[in-house]
Formats: sequence, C-alpha cells, structure tokens
Amino acid sequence: MSRFFQFAKTAATIVVFLSVVASAQPEPKLDTHEQRTARAMLAAVQAGPLELHAFLELMPKGADLHNHLTGSIFAENFIAEAVSDHLCVNPASYTLVKPVGLSRGIPAHPVCSAGDVPVEQDYRNSQLYDDLIDAFSMRAFVAREGDSAHDHFFNSFSKFGLVSDAHTGEWLDEVARSTAKDNTQYLELMMTPDFGHGSDLGAKLGWNPNLEQFRQALLSHGLREGVEEARQAIESAEKQRLAAEHCAQPDAMPACKVETKFLFQVLRGFPPERVFAQMVLGFEVASSVPDVVGVNIVMPEDGRISMRDYHLQMQMFDLLHHDYPKVHLSLHAGELAPGLVPPDGLRFHIREAVELGHAQRIGHGVDVMYEDHPHQLLHELAQKHVLVEINLTSNDLILGIRGEEHPFPIYRRYGVPVALSTDDAGVSRITLTHEYVRAAATYHLTYADLKQMARESLEHSFLPGKSLWPEAESSTPEQFTRVAPACAHEKLGAQKPSASCTAFLDRSQRAQQQWELESRFHAFEARY
Ligand SMILES: [Zn+2]
Repeated sequence: MSRFFQFAKTAATIVVFLSVVASAQPEPKLDTHEQRTARAMLAAVQAGPLELHAFLELMPKGADLHNHLTGSIFAENFIAEAVSDHLCVNPASYTLVKPVGLSRGIPAHPVCSAGDVPVEQDYRNSQLYDDLIDAFSMRAFVAREGDSAHDHFFNSFSKFGLVSDAHTGEWLDEVARSTAKDNTQYLELMMTPDFGHGSDLGAKLGWNPNLEQFRQALLSHGLREGVEEARQAIESAEKQRLAAEHCAQPDAMPACKVETKFLFQVLRGFPPERVFAQMVLGFEVASSVPDVVGVNIVMPEDGRISMRDYHLQMQMFDLLHHDYPKVHLSLHAGELAPGLVPPDGLRFHIREAVELGHAQRIGHGVDVMYEDHPHQLLHELAQKHVLVEINLTSNDLILGIRGEEHPFPIYRRYGVPVALSTDDAGVSRITLTHEYVRAAATYHLTYADLKQMARESLEHSFLPGKSLWPEAESSTPEQFTRVAPACAHEKLGAQKPSASCTAFLDRSQRAQQQWELESRFHAFEARY
C-alpha cells in the first residue's frame, strides 16, 4: 500500500471514530443560570476589582457572623451623635470627654474643661472634624512611634466610647441599612449590654477558685437583675430601629428584611472575678432573652491579662457550658501573629477554645499554623464542624497578616467551614462586599466557592431550628446538595412552597433564612 493510501485509510478511520464519539454524546444542554453567573464572575475578575465589586455587591451573601456593633459604626455618625450628646473632645488625644456643664438658653451648648472643645465646633473647624474621623477609624492611618496600627485600631473604641448607649437603635439602623445594600440578610451583632452591676458584684464578692460556688454566690447576690436590664435595652433599641426603617408599613425600607440577633460580649482584659461575673451574666442573658443567641469574648487577645488568664478563661467557659449547655459560643481565638506575643503564646489558643471552651465557631484563627500539631487541629476543626470567621481586612490592619501569610486557603483545603465577615466595618471603613472582593481577588475564588461560604454562614449561624441541608451537618467538607425531605421536591427558595415545606420552615428560623438565601440566589442568577 502506498503511503498515500495508508494515510487516507488512517484518516478515514479517525473520521469514523470521531463521528461515533460525537453521536454517542448527549444533546448539548443549555447552560444553567448558575453556570452563566459563574462565567460572569470570571469576566468580572478579569476586568479588575471595580467590575468585581459591582458584581459582588449584588451577590447574596447570607450572614455577617463576626460584627461588633460599635466597631461597625462610621466615625461621621459617632461625631453627629456626640454633638447631640453635648460632648467635648480633648484635641490632643481626640478622645470624647464629658462637659463640665451646659450653657443656659436654647439650644444648650456644652461647657468644656480648660483645653477641651465642644464636639459641635467640628462643624466649624474642618481640620478638627477630619482629625476626629482619622482618630475614630483607620482612615489615613500611618504608623508612627507610639501609635502602631494595632494600637490605633483598638484605641479607637475608647476614643468614641463616650457616645451614649441611647443611640443603640440608631446604630442598629445604620448597620441594617448598609447590610441590606450588601445583599446580606442576617447579622449576629456582638454587643456589651450594661454589665457594670454584674462586674462590680464579682469584684465585691472577690475571687473564688471554686467556680461553681462562685457562680452560685453571684446568683444569690442578685446578678440576675442584669438580665432584665439587658432585655429591656435590646428591646427598646430594636423598637427604635424598626421605627426608623418604617418596618411593617407600606413604605418599609429594605433594611427591615435584615434579621438581627445578638452575641453577648465579655471583656476579657479584666481581673478574673470581673470576667467570670460578666460571663455568668452573659450565659444567663443568652438563656432567657431570645434575641441573644450566644456569648463571645473580646478585647485584644495579646493583652497582658488575656494572655495570662487565657487557660483560666477557657476553664470558666468549660464550667458554664456544662451549666448552660444550650448557650452557643463563638470565641475570638488565634487573633495573634508571630512577634506580637512570645512563640509559646501561639501554641494553644484555638485548640483550647474548641476542646476546653466548647466554641462552635472561632473568630479569626489567624495563628493556626503556629499551634502545636496544626494539621491534626485542622482535621479536628473540620470533623467537629467548627466554622472559622475570616476577617481579612481586620487581620491585615491589626496583625499585618495578609496574602500567603493568612491561613484562609489552608482552612479551605482541610474542609474547615469558613465564612467572610467584617469584624469592625466602621473602624476599618469597609463593607462585606469589600471582603468578598478581597478574598476572591487574593485567593482566586470562583463563584461556587463564594456561594459555598454564603451558605456556610447561615448553616453555622446560631439561629434556632433544623438546617435546610441535612447532609451539611455530617459530611466533610459540608455538602449543600440534599435538601430536607419536607422541602425536597420544591424549587429552592420558591415564594409559595408546599404545605409540608412551609410547616418545616415555620418551625426553623435557620431553615427560613436558608430558604430566603436560595430565593435570593435564584433572583441574582436569573440576571445572567
Ligand atoms: Zn472581633
């Protein structure tokens, strides 16, 4: 056979083979909306961060689970509130201070101590106004001796701290409005109800290393009085917020659709008798005020007392978890970096928060690879379904940890559930969309990755009730493929589900929010 015929025969065989393969292929399917949305995101990534921002702002994000209420207020609003509170400011430290009195006449003006000026002067002195915004936030921050980024961030809380709690309803409104614009539907806001009474009671009774006896003593000396105060403070703030947003009225604002619950935050940088008294109050509040769904612990983890008493504070959580097993716990742990504390300080915080403190979620978890046996710990977090709340901008600003130094991709690789959150959106001057853009651009995430995280956020919320996704509770990594039987035959997120599905959703606040998220995904993806 000539070479030509040999070639022709081989070519014919290939053609026949290819046509057989082609005819064996199923009919080409049309792309789903989800696939087209994924491609739209890819195009936005290629077009750059501004297009990506425009895309992600509209994407449904589920919950922001790590969000400190006062840290999420923008400085401009604190200044306006300080003016209405008739406060003064110390122009050297930019700290709000009380006036010595008020002038006669209407309207009254604050009379300030020598050297201090009324905050209302800011509106006539634009330099002071600008400086105050910089002091209350990380705007324009440049590190200099005596003012590191870490210190500037945490110190901002004491600078604006004198703004009255009477504005709590306005803060809730501000956060709900910005959350709605981010297409985020659920918040677990960390706040500190007035626990002065509880903390002082702890100090008065004095430290007792027998924690159960100490708890009984606190309760028998009236600690529970603080529960009613916390309930009333939260209820009245919520009422203010709903009125400001015209909720349940024809002109209700989109912010009304943001569901808000609270985590009682315990300040850990105090002597143990004060910390324990706050904790007991926190567990009591979370046991009897339905809007308070759990307890957290705050203040710099690298602080002297936080480091000295870390193990003791986890023992306190251990005891209180046994006394109040239904109270949910998310604990700040591992918000540390090499150099910030000695190497031994990096070895055990996340592990103890989970194994001794019974944390169901970890806030930050930045130093995980410096813990003892980090790979075993990562497997343990995945198997126990402990979610890590990831705060990329906050970690960059406070700890200087970013990019490859951040363990976010490692958590994902090990199947540890993760969700993006803002931490202190006002101090950092960010939004949750900003964090989504940052995560997607830095770690090359796909639309499916982001969708998974949005679903994780609600799956690990402390809302009561069963999950819409029964497999997520057992599989590692968590699967969002099989729907609870009562709703298994519905279009996900349908406006009018069947009677059995409606009954299931009515019994579970968590599943309701999950259903709402699916409905939002449906609407978002229908655009593409
Ligand atoms: Zn935090």
